[in-house]
Amino acid sequence: MSVSGTTATVSAPPRIYAAWQSLSEETGLAPAYMIGLDGCRRGCLFCHARGDWEAFAGEELSRESLAHHFRRAREWQCCTIQFTGGEPGWRLAEIESALPAAGDLPLVLNTSLDQPLHLQAELLAAFKLVIVSLKFGRDQCAARLGCGSDYLGPMRERLVAMYEAGIPLRVRHLVMPGHLDCCLRPTLDWLVRELPLVPVTLLLGFVPPPRPQVPELQRTLTLDERHAALAQATRSGLCWEAVGAQIPAMKGHGTGPELVDVVIDAAGAICLPTMGPAAQALAAGLCAACEEEIP
Ligand code: SF4
Repeated sequence: MSVSGTTATVSAPPRIYAAWQSLSEETGLAPAYMIGLDGCRRGCLFCHARGDWEAFAGEELSRESLAHHFRRAREWQCCTIQFTGGEPGWRLAEIESALPAAGDLPLVLNTSLDQPLHLQAELLAAFKLVIVSLKFGRDQCAARLGCGSDYLGPMRERLVAMYEAGIPLRVRHLVMPGHLDCCLRPTLDWLVRELPLVPVTLLLGFVPPPRPQVPELQRTLTLDERHAALAQATRSGLCWEAVGAQIPAMKGHGTGPELVDVVIDAAGAICLPTMGPAAQALAAGLCAACEEEIP
């Protein structure tokens, strides 16, 4: 099956297309204040962010705009500030020059690593942690799903180079429906061999993409797939955790308005792509309503 990719672009100057609070981050990172920068040169066919940065102009990244967001992160009792995308790896110099002088929350960079970031180690020094999204376990899947046929080699080289440069790393793998044997397993196997000390996150909250171009991605993970993913991770011996499998149990964080996207897949599963306080309350209410209906 052939599918068409999207136009992958990075505009200048960078824009903050969205900022939100996320409860569904790893231990120690949540609640996180997320700053989404526009633009990405990849063309993942399961991307949810592209529609947002194309729809919302947002505000220009500047010292003033970052100062506003850093203040709001403190008001919302966030414990980290995470730059995400799009692909913020292309924006390191602009981020660095716009950082408020008195930023006191740890910064996290969330990248798809589509360039060798270890060559910019000085700019990365501003970040306490770099989260790398390693999406595929074989090039055929990367090519089919929009990331090109030369994905794995460069990604793995860059990850090893970052590790050897002493950059604090975490690897995330989005577990996709039908991609446990071809993508999850080889990813874990490679990490065990090459980067056994790097912590790993399994993202188990796959949400079907807005554009139905790939048949197997039009659903959420089945319970069996979730269990199999957890079993694979356990057997690997890596230091890992899973997010997105359940409602985060955090209370008392967050104020202010929150836009909550709700996606219902073909089987009727309700998905909340981002989990802030309002989404958390919505999910808890839906769960309670379901339980009341069960005799
Ligand atoms: S790397 Fe991330 S932002 Fe870029 S296209 Fe893929 S999912 Fe979207």
